[in-house]
Amino acid sequence: MRILLAFGTRPEIIKLAPVYRALRSRQIDVDVLWTGQHTDLAAGLIDFFGIDIAFNHSGIVAEAGLAAKVGIMTKRIESVIRASHYDWIVVQGDTGTALAAATAGFLNAVPVAHVEAGLRTGDMQSPWPEEFNRRVISLCTTLHFAPTPGARANLLAEDIRAEAVRMVGNTVVDALQFARARVANGYTPINPALASLPDNRKIVLATLHRRENIGDHMDEVLRALRDLAHDGDKLIVLPVHLNPEVRASVLALLGDTANVVLTGPLQYPDFVHLLTRAWVVVSDSGGIQEEAPAFGLPVLITRDTTERPEVVEAGFGQLVGWNYDAIVSGVRALTAGDAPQRIDAPNPFGDGNSAGKIAAALTDSRATQSTIRAAPAELRAS
Ligand code: UDP
Repeated sequence: MRILLAFGTRPEIIKLAPVYRALRSRQIDVDVLWTGQHTDLAAGLIDFFGIDIAFNHSGIVAEAGLAAKVGIMTKRIESVIRASHYDWIVVQGDTGTALAAATAGFLNAVPVAHVEAGLRTGDMQSPWPEEFNRRVISLCTTLHFAPTPGARANLLAEDIRAEAVRMVGNTVVDALQFARARVANGYTPINPALASLPDNRKIVLATLHRRENIGDHMDEVLRALRDLAHDGDKLIVLPVHLNPEVRASVLALLGDTANVVLTGPLQYPDFVHLLTRAWVVVSDSGGIQEEAPAFGLPVLITRDTTERPEVVEAGFGQLVGWNYDAIVSGVRALTAGDAPQRIDAPNPFGDGNSAGKIAAALTDSRATQSTIRAAPAELRAS
C-alpha cells in the first residue's frame, strides 16, 4: 500500500503530522507532497514532527492569484499521482492545497481521503474561500473523516453515504499531545519575547488572520485589544501573521502600545507553551478554537459564524464578531479574578486518538472500492 499526503500550510502540517506518524508506525509507504503555500509559517514544523518530504513544490507560492495557485498545484499534484500508483491521496481541511489535491485525485481516479471533513458555516462568503473549498473537497472524497457528530451530520445531509463517513475526532488533539510532551515543565521558549514574559500578568493571547476580516472588522478588534492593554493588569500577546495587510493594521493600531507584545508567527511549541499560560484567547483562527478546549481555555471568536459550533456548545467559546464592547467586556470578565479560569468539560474535538483510527481505516482496502467504480477503465488500471 502506498499513500500520498498532500499539504502546504501550517494548520495542515499540524493536523496531518499525526496521520503521517501513525501510518509510518504501521510500516505503510507514505510520500509527502509539500506545496509550500505557507513557506514561512511552516519553518520548523516539518522538522518538529519528523516529516520527510518526497515532493517539494514550494515555488508555487510566488504565483499571483488564488485561482492560478490552485491551477498550478493541481497540475503538479496530477503529475506526481500519474508517475506512481497511490492507493490513497490524503488531504486535510479547506485550503487551496487540499482543494487542488482532492481535485487531482478525483480526476485521476485515485481515492481521496479527507481529514476534518464536514465542517460547514452554510455561508459561502465566510470563511472565504474556505467554505467553497470544503464543499468541493467533499464532492471529490471517497472516505470522509469527520471530527465530530455535527460534522458527520452535515455530510449525511448532503447525501453522502453513511458508510463513507467515519467519526474519528480531530487530529489537532493528537498533535497537541505530541507537542505538550515536549513543552512540559521548565520549557524555555525559542522566541526571546516569550522567554521574558513576566509571571504576574494576565495574558490575553490574540491571533488574527482571516482574509474576509481584513479592514474595518479587524481594526475594530485591534482597537478593543488596545484599550484592554490600557487596563494595565493584562498583557496582550499577538503573534502577527505574515499577511502584509494584517501586519499593516496591527502595526498602525498596536505598534508602540504599552502592555502589548507583538511577535512574528511563533514556532508551534512556543505557541503551545503560550496556550498553557494564557487566561483567554481572542482569535479568528479555526485550529485555535479546537486547541483552546484541550487547555480548558476560554476563547472569544472574532467572527460572525463558526464551522466549529461544538466549541460554543461545550462552553469554551463565544462568538463575539467584531463587536468592540463584546470583546472588551468578555476579556474583562474572564480576567477579573486572581487566577486564570479553566473550563472543566470534555474536549468536543476528541481525545488524541484520531490519527490511529484514520490509519486503520486507510489500510482497510474495502474502503477504496466505491470511488473507482465510475472512472474510465484506463484510469482504474493505472
Ligand atoms: N500556530 C502556531 N504559531 C502561531 C499561531 C498559530 O504554531 O504563531 C498554530 C496553532 O497552534 C494552530 C494553527 O497554527 O494549530 C492555526 O493556524 P491558523 O490560525 O493560521 O489557521 P486556521 O486554523 O485558521 O486555518
